[in-house]
Amino acid sequence: MSTGRLTIDLDAVVANWRALDAKSGAEVQTAAVVKADAYGLGVGKVGRALAAAGTRRFFVAAAEEGAALREALGPGPEISVFSGHMSGDTDMVHDLGLVPMLNSVEQVTRHLEALPGHPFGIQLDTGMNRLGMEPAEWAALRDILLPQNPRLIMSHLACADDPDHPMNHQQLSAFHDMTDGVDIPRSLAATGGILLGPDYHFDLTRPGIGLYGGFPFEDAQTVVHLDLPVIQIRDVAEGETVGYSNTWQAEAASRVATVAAGYADGLNRHLSNQAVLFHEDTPCPILGRVSMDMIGVDVTHLRETPKNLTMLSDQQTVDDLAEIAGTIGYEFLTQLGHRYHRHYARGRT
Ligand SMILES: *Cc1c(COP(=O)(O)O)cnc(C)c1O
Repeated sequence: MSTGRLTIDLDAVVANWRALDAKSGAEVQTAAVVKADAYGLGVGKVGRALAAAGTRRFFVAAAEEGAALREALGPGPEISVFSGHMSGDTDMVHDLGLVPMLNSVEQVTRHLEALPGHPFGIQLDTGMNRLGMEPAEWAALRDILLPQNPRLIMSHLACADDPDHPMNHQQLSAFHDMTDGVDIPRSLAATGGILLGPDYHFDLTRPGIGLYGGFPFEDAQTVVHLDLPVIQIRDVAEGETVGYSNTWQAEAASRVATVAAGYADGLNRHLSNQAVLFHEDTPCPILGRVSMDMIGVDVTHLRETPKNLTMLSDQQTVDDLAEIAGTIGYEFLTQLGHRYHRHYARGRT
């Protein structure tokens, strides 16, 4: 085996969903956001594990993602599409029973003309200026839309990972202004919003990153483990260099392990000379540049010759690496490459 082993702990995903579900009252439904192939971890496996654990409602970004999820789940669980009803989506929405979150007058018209009577939801913009109807648009359409019984009215928070940000309360008030008195289920909170507390929960929550073990859900169980095989070990003398552009030079005689993964596998070049890998509990620093397929690692201080070194685990999480790489856990997860041998674990934790 010359590629890394990416272990995705499905029990940890389920435990994280349950833990987030427990943060709101029994009357609040907890959905699961599985867009972008379940944040890169595999929408079929993740979707089936969550459905088996009791998740009844899923969100994806695009109708195509909804099609892949429907194939994995079969009929039953509700699948909602954040991007709404785009031109070309009608057959998928109809045949696979997807629920588009309508975002604009154009989408409302398309949906009601193409699929009258087919379930839909409504997305409102409360200040993020990304998706959803603005207050004036909503005011013009609400008397047409409400009698058709939308499945959900939702909006999305821009700054929920920062509990002290004034934007949170501003968007909460805007959402109240636009929806109070409407007898349709409402949703405002993703992972960050769940952690802001019950004022933000409404009838349904939509966690994504927290399910996969990422910030801001600090109590999450670790979902992703990554072990990289050592391809070769060599001794380098004082003064020799390792990797492209000679960015690391040995100050003393050293042992260098070359492991099989690189930036083509989502291990960003910003990790060069910065991150560590682990041999059991012992950190082993990256030496020199991360290449496309390989990384040099300092194993001088190890008593044994390792067969594998660990990049992601409880000791070094996706958020830890993301921070070193100058990004966020969401991006790091979705960049994890397709060359890894993927292993879906149950009963690890
Ligand atoms: C991605 C997304 C979510 C999930 O957000 P997390 O921060 O990953 O929990 C929820 N709602 C919308 C509209 C999204 O785009």
